[in-house]
Amino acid sequence: MEYLDLSLYEYRRFPIPMRSVGWLGRRFGVQGGGGQDLGAADRQRIRGASQRLGSVTLGTHECEFCPPDSTFEGNGEYRYYGRSGDVYVAPMMILHYMEEHGYRPPEEFLDGLKDIGRLEWDWRAERMLAVLLDESEDFDFRCEAIIDLVNWRDGRVLDALMHSIQDEELVDSAGDEIGRSLGVLVARGDVGDLRVESLPEMVRIGLGQIVPQ
Ligand SMILES: [Zn+2]
Repeated sequence: MEYLDLSLYEYRRFPIPMRSVGWLGRRFGVQGGGGQDLGAADRQRIRGASQRLGSVTLGTHECEFCPPDSTFEGNGEYRYYGRSGDVYVAPMMILHYMEEHGYRPPEEFLDGLKDIGRLEWDWRAERMLAVLLDESEDFDFRCEAIIDLVNWRDGRVLDALMHSIQDEELVDSAGDEIGRSLGVLVARGDVGDLRVESLPEMVRIGLGQIVPQ
């Protein structure tokens, strides 16, 4: 899986359009390498924004720049929602490429990360909310919506997560993700009264990873 930086993401289907960052391979090499090194502030900002992996069911991807006997591999992707409306998506390997192989993401992406703070409820949030609540939607889309909706700080997100707990199929496949998303909301003080003992076990496990019970 190798894509030019800022090209439209087409690795797989996703409910909203995204642009690729850091999908490196042999054909295009270490894109952005050889130029100015990334400064400490940019590194810190990228690490800070790369916290939660989505799409971990994607296949494993091996680093094509490490020597054969020390191959680094990764799984899953980070998605970055900018306030401007753009969404960028990078493989989990982006941090490795940056630290070990001199990868420098495009300026547009670096600038976007400076502005990644609190998001206004927008069409992307509406789309993800609709995806999660619609039982006829693509099941993988619904699981990813569980992860990405917490980018918005809005009561509708908690309502949707609590609603998704009633969906047995979602809880079976993504109960831990529901729990982790609930944990994010609890950690930032957005949940008044959560009856943890009434939650399905998988949801409790995910929750406990973010806010130890
Ligand atoms: Zn490597």
